[in-house]
Amino acid sequence: MSEATRTVLVTGASRGIGKAIAVGMAKRGYDVAINDIARQKDVLAEVASEIEGLGRKALTVLADVSSKTEVEAMAAEIKAAFGHLDAVVNNAGILIAGEVDGLKEEYWDSVMDVNAKGTFLVVQSVLPMMKAAKYGRIVNIASIGGKHGAPEQAHYSASKAAVMGFTRVLAQEVGVDGITANCVCPGIIMTDMGRVNLDDPAIRKMWQDKTALRRIGDPEDVVGAVAFLASDDAAFVTGQTLNVDGGIVLS
Ligand code: NAD
Repeated sequence: MSEATRTVLVTGASRGIGKAIAVGMAKRGYDVAINDIARQKDVLAEVASEIEGLGRKALTVLADVSSKTEVEAMAAEIKAAFGHLDAVVNNAGILIAGEVDGLKEEYWDSVMDVNAKGTFLVVQSVLPMMKAAKYGRIVNIASIGGKHGAPEQAHYSASKAAVMGFTRVLAQEVGVDGITANCVCPGIIMTDMGRVNLDDPAIRKMWQDKTALRRIGDPEDVVGAVAFLASDDAAFVTGQTLNVDGGIVLS
């Protein structure tokens, strides 16, 4: 790791799990590049203030992670502002529910574009910085949905399985450069996205009952695992997927 202040990019950082990770990394001493799409600009500014209130730098980088042009511009902005990037957390993701029978092709494409291609594009854009430093930590937010899945989420499940497969091979390719790549698989977490599963009290109870810890997760529950995988304590951990799901039992 460089002697300079540690730096991390968190995508999809304006709310939910991404915001919790961005603030959580600032609490752990990182300067944080916070990314989201342009329409989240004002909300992202509030996250930036929170990070600056912790005495750390916040660099706001607006980009749609599924756009190669925007992602490359984002990496250039980070290089110009921070000079180096120790870690990236690919958290940006979308879920549009729909059964396979009748699923619109555009829904398949958008979910794959943001969740799977977005992860690939962001990783590709920051690899030159990490390779030059011979150091990097890549943490990709997949999902227990990518291992098990639930009805109406086949395309989401496919996108998250893609993230896990991508990460396993990435780890093999970049290890020689001192870079690790791992996945975190959140369970059911109370966020705007999580509410798709949780709005109905009966469904919420069903998920609680399936969870060893008998509760729905909060965004902050995901932070510790991400911070660990981004740290030097995880120097010899790569190509792994870690569930952060309160012990969900899916049969
Ligand atoms: P969320 O919808 O609350 O937040 C997602 C964030 O990503 C938003 O800020 C959104 O604006 C941003 N985003 C969406 N498309 C983007 C794009 N193209 N470019 C840049 N940013 C974009 O969702 P969340 O629950 O906080 O989910 C965060 C991650 O965790 C996602 O990858 C999601 O799939 C994963 N996850 C969530 C749960 C859950 O239960 N909430 C469970 C498993 C995995």
